[in-house]
Amino acid sequence: MRKKALICGNWKLNHNLSQTKSMVEEVSQAIKNNELVEVVLAPVAPLLFAACDLAKNTSLKIAAQNVFYEQKGAFTGEWSVNHLTELGCSYAIVGHSERRQYFNDSDEGVGKKARACLDGNIKPIACLGETLEQRENGQVKKVLTRQLGAVLSQVKESDLENLVIAYEPVWAIGTSNTATSAQAQEAHSILRVLIADKFGPDRAESVHILYGGSVKWQNIKELMAQKDIDGALVGGASLTAESFLSIVEGSI
Ligand code: PEP
Repeated sequence: MRKKALICGNWKLNHNLSQTKSMVEEVSQAIKNNELVEVVLAPVAPLLFAACDLAKNTSLKIAAQNVFYEQKGAFTGEWSVNHLTELGCSYAIVGHSERRQYFNDSDEGVGKKARACLDGNIKPIACLGETLEQRENGQVKKVLTRQLGAVLSQVKESDLENLVIAYEPVWAIGTSNTATSAQAQEAHSILRVLIADKFGPDRAESVHILYGGSVKWQNIKELMAQKDIDGALVGGASLTAESFLSIVEGSI
């Protein structure tokens, strides 16, 4: 049986307090009777408190867009997994390509963030994916092996059902150049096999592997029809309730 789809909207640095509140309300209301998709929204960090408060007692889950791996100390500007747990977050995106590009997130750091999340009952959505140059140089498998390896080195078999991997080819993020469903499936299959090599095929099946990169209502059905695509991480098309909900709808 196919596992429950997971659709996560990543708002990046968008939406103020009132936009956040009204979207959380609208989306949570719209998915009230939907048990087929796990729906997650990731607002900016300062608005997590408001979002979690509004999503409380609904089936909408809230994610942070980042988190640090230490629990406390002299780390100005950071927040910990414990803070997310206290707020009522369920997920944290780690290693998004924009964090890797602009904030120097390293493979090792992403692995440590994933570990910290798993230790604190926050499900990590660990992002990885190749650049256009790496794809053109035939390095997709090599890059995915390196990036996923850093996450899997921090993961135990018992963590797998709480682990989410998001394959996000950098060249497809915010560009309208969605990977074809065949390209996406090929990459997801590489990732699934790498997990299976370490933990066995049955356990590998329990990991949600999301696709991210210009997902919209027009392509979600075909992407979701692929064997190893279990959901989507959605940027631009998650910014209005109408557009996001059409993707949630299309993922079923
Ligand atoms: C993202 O930022 O994770 C993303 C997939 O963005 P977009 O959907 O806009 O390509």
